[in-house]
Amino acid sequence: MKLVNRVAVVTGGGSGIGRAISLAFAAEGATVVAADLVEERALETADLIERAGGKGIGVQADVSNAASVAEMATGVTNAYGAVDILVNNAGLSRGGDIRTIEEADWDINFDVIMKGAFLCSKAFIGGMIERGGGVLLHIASVNGMYGIGEEPYSAAKAGLINFSQNLAVRHGAEGIRSNVIAPGSIVTPIWNHTVHRDPEVFNRLAKIYPLRRVGQPEDVAKAALFLASDDASWISGVTLPVDGGLTAGTDIFRTTSGADERA
Ligand code: NAD
Repeated sequence: MKLVNRVAVVTGGGSGIGRAISLAFAAEGATVVAADLVEERALETADLIERAGGKGIGVQADVSNAASVAEMATGVTNAYGAVDILVNNAGLSRGGDIRTIEEADWDINFDVIMKGAFLCSKAFIGGMIERGGGVLLHIASVNGMYGIGEEPYSAAKAGLINFSQNLAVRHGAEGIRSNVIAPGSIVTPIWNHTVHRDPEVFNRLAKIYPLRRVGQPEDVAKAALFLASDDASWISGVTLPVDGGLTAGTDIFRTTSGADERA
């Protein structure tokens, strides 16, 4: 068991990747606080953890709201003392082309992804430092690494990568490790609207991935477990793509253009 006696807070822990991370951490002995905007989802994750024999609670929290984060952090700290691991996972994506997006679309991406990571990191890092260290893990996206659309979301994810690097550098001497996971396309409810419009979307996307499939939440959870555990005790400031090889490149151009045949 890799996380015995650790307390982990997972934001957006009520669904998809956050739920898979919560379950994976609890299975390794951590006490997990699944914090989510939607209370029922957080409670459902806690229930799944308990049913699997682990320790977990679900709490409602809006990571984009300072008062809500403060209330959540106070509750967690009162119940468990300082937190050992924080996973900034809560996220959503609104809008793309800047000609059509509204200011509110821009703001909500940055409020949840960037400000959320700021508020939650700020709420827990002091306690981590006081007890000698801790782990910050941020779920960004391959979208934050190059230009593949969803502009406000992608810009916020790119910001998250730099934010993590600065946390790693400024607080490394105080025992803080800060890392990012950049997932590719993962089958979760965040895709529900797209799948409703285009039921074949994952089959088409699979073709651009070198490993020829899209990801599952557990693919991300396994990487999160590694980065959160002592197995990664000398790893900080990195961005780990969990993306079926996508950031290495794609052979979609070669396979569709017949370039190899011409050469
Ligand atoms: P999801 O929609 O299944 O889960 C996201 C959760 O975050 C939801 O339960 C939602 O209620 C919660 N949330 C949203 N706003 C919140 C707020 N203000 N405060 C607290 N909780 C809030 O999506 P997912 O795919 O599991 O996404 C998890 C993270 O992974 C996100 O940051 C997302 O950007 C990132 N990501 C997902 C994919 C993918 O393809 N699924 C790819 C790359 C990155």
